Amino acid sequence: MSADEQICLQIAEDVERLLEDRLILGEDVQKVIHHAESTGKKLINPAIDRFLAFYRPKAVTYWVEYSRIDGGYQVHTAYSHRMVMKSGGSTKEWVKSGSDSDWLCNQCQMPLEVQTVRLQYMQSIFPINLPACSRCGFILVAEELATGKVAEAEQALEDK
Ligand SMILES: [Zn+2]
Repeated sequence: MSADEQICLQIAEDVERLLEDRLILGEDVQKVIHHAESTGKKLINPAIDRFLAFYRPKAVTYWVEYSRIDGGYQVHTAYSHRMVMKSGGSTKEWVKSGSDSDWLCNQCQMPLEVQTVRLQYMQSIFPINLPACSRCGFILVAEELATGKVAEAEQALEDK
């Protein structure tokens, strides 16, 4: 077994059903957590002691919200999107309005700030304001966004 396959997951029944509906496998979740834990690239919400991380093995980005429990990890939710988010890279584009997000960048220990980033899918690029870490550029794609507007846009582009 590889290291990510040894990650022990605890998934409640309703979350299990949600992952099934979203076509997300246990091994996808394991890969996200393994990547986050081995690189430290994740967001942290100290108030509820949860982590949020993503991993893009192929054409799909998987996000998992989880917390540490004895002997493994509890999965609170997971979602995916195919669009690629790209940080503008220039600090001129920072809106610096702060963000109402409770997530902090784990590596930089910084609160997220709203930044204009580019969503890219197939031949299309859309600018969008998203919370991101101003130091390392970690962009937060929240569940409501990924399963709402982003999913709709992906569908619309595929139907063209
Ligand atoms: Zn950061």
